[in-house]
Amino acid sequence: MTLTTHATLGAVIGRATGNPVLAFIFGFISHFLIDMVPHGDTGLADNYKIKKVRRKQALAYVMVDAVVAIMFVLILANVKDIVSVRNFTWGIVGSVLPDLIVGVYELTKTKYLHWFNKMHFFFHDFFIKRKGDVPLYYALMAQVVLIAYLQTKL
Ligand SMILES: [Zn+2]
Repeated sequence: MTLTTHATLGAVIGRATGNPVLAFIFGFISHFLIDMVPHGDTGLADNYKIKKVRRKQALAYVMVDAVVAIMFVLILANVKDIVSVRNFTWGIVGSVLPDLIVGVYELTKTKYLHWFNKMHFFFHDFFIKRKGDVPLYYALMAQVVLIAYLQTKL
């Protein structure tokens, strides 16, 4: 999923749990579960990691994804009456952290994060491996709808 989707879900979880530790834990778990829904980024990832073509496109996607997520979270913090900034924050941190760890693994290839990377893609590719991925455009549109719904729960 896009980081904006993960972050918005994490923010809602932060509110629902009402506790920063639970917000972090359930936010973290939510990342793997929602990543199981095919979301169109397999082509980009395969180009980057396997075929090693159009790699700048994948990097640009990740960059745009991250900056949009930062802006969206800041906008939420501005326009919503956040009940607890602490729970909001830790829900978001937990929900986006897995992709940060995967990014650090991708940069360093450290053996200490190999298992985490494998676990992340076990969930991420769970249904894609069996059923194939969906077109990225539709996946992004679906996420816009999901985010629009989720932000009403803040
Ligand atoms: Zn992920």
